Amino acid sequence: MISEIVGNSLFAAFLASIDGDLAARAKSKGCAHCGGVLHSATYARKLRGLPDSTDPPNRRHSFCCQTCRRRTTPASVRFLGRRAYAGTVVVLMSAMGEGVTNRRIEELRRVLGVHRRTLQRWRHWWRAVFAATPFWSVARGNLMPPPDATALPGGLLERFIGPDDPTRLAQCLRFLAPLYSPYSDHAC
Ligand SMILES: [Zn+2]
Repeated sequence: MISEIVGNSLFAAFLASIDGDLAARAKSKGCAHCGGVLHSATYARKLRGLPDSTDPPNRRHSFCCQTCRRRTTPASVRFLGRRAYAGTVVVLMSAMGEGVTNRRIEELRRVLGVHRRTLQRWRHWWRAVFAATPFWSVARGNLMPPPDATALPGGLLERFIGPDDPTRLAQCLRFLAPLYSPYSDHAC
């Protein structure tokens, strides 16, 4: 399942198109700081865990304000916050329960270069860091019944009902997209 979803270029293109929608919405709202007009200022960003064929290839949508020159970066389903791995991979991998087999860990290492330690760190992030965010305390109320923090992120993924795994994953990523974004960092 892992390599099938992650290696699927159609799925990668689907995620890129969702990011395109999120970016268009952010652009139409104008600058987060002064309301000024935004100009596209995408930047290349290393996106481990998704095929390179993504169009536009691994570029993070971003905008520069015409007035105050500050950057606005819209929400994204491919880049979950500032994490180096694609959101897809982070959710999928850490959703795997404690019963993860050595064979599967070996598959992760071979296909994606993800090691057991990384997997443990991600799982810890979901259960300790993510579960404590204001985003989650509000968002979990929209899910009935609210998933338990100890079941994250698998318990979250289960709440999405789509015809297949890639659809459910995309729904979950879209739900998570506002978590860190839009944010702005430096002047551009
Ligand atoms: Zn501005």
